Amino acid sequence: MNDCLFCKIIAGEIPSEKVFENESVYAFKDISPVAPVHVLVIPKVHIDSSNDISRENVHYVSEIYLAIKEITRELGIAEDGYRVVSNCNDFGGQTVHHLHFHIVGGKELGWPPFNERV
Ligand code: 5GP
Ligand code: ZN
Repeated sequence: MNDCLFCKIIAGEIPSEKVFENESVYAFKDISPVAPVHVLVIPKVHIDSSNDISRENVHYVSEIYLAIKEITRELGIAEDGYRVVSNCNDFGGQTVHHLHFHIVGGKELGWPPFNERV
């Protein structure tokens, strides 16, 4: 059995606040938002992380970016701007190992997104 949290959200086994869905992509509100708008966009197939994007599945990433364009326009943050983040593995801070893209917006964001310098 697939024990992935986001696969369970796609299957409807765990409830989520959907903001967008099509054949390839599902998007929902992050349960613990870090900004006024915080949406997670995920492929409807299980891909562990950006390390596992391949020629065979890369079209999901294109579909995700097309979805991001629609979602940000729909939520009214496209013009002001927003950030898209995908964390990978431990150093990247990835906690759920199903590829996902955070859309963060609705306020001006600081840069860099971490405190330390090299
Ligand atoms: P990561 O840290 O892997 O980049 O991002 C995982 C994100 O998933 C976190 O921002 C976390 O708040 C969110 N998250 C974890 N569990 C759930 C859940 O059950 N439902 C929703 N909507 N978001 C979740
Ligand atoms: Zn999964």
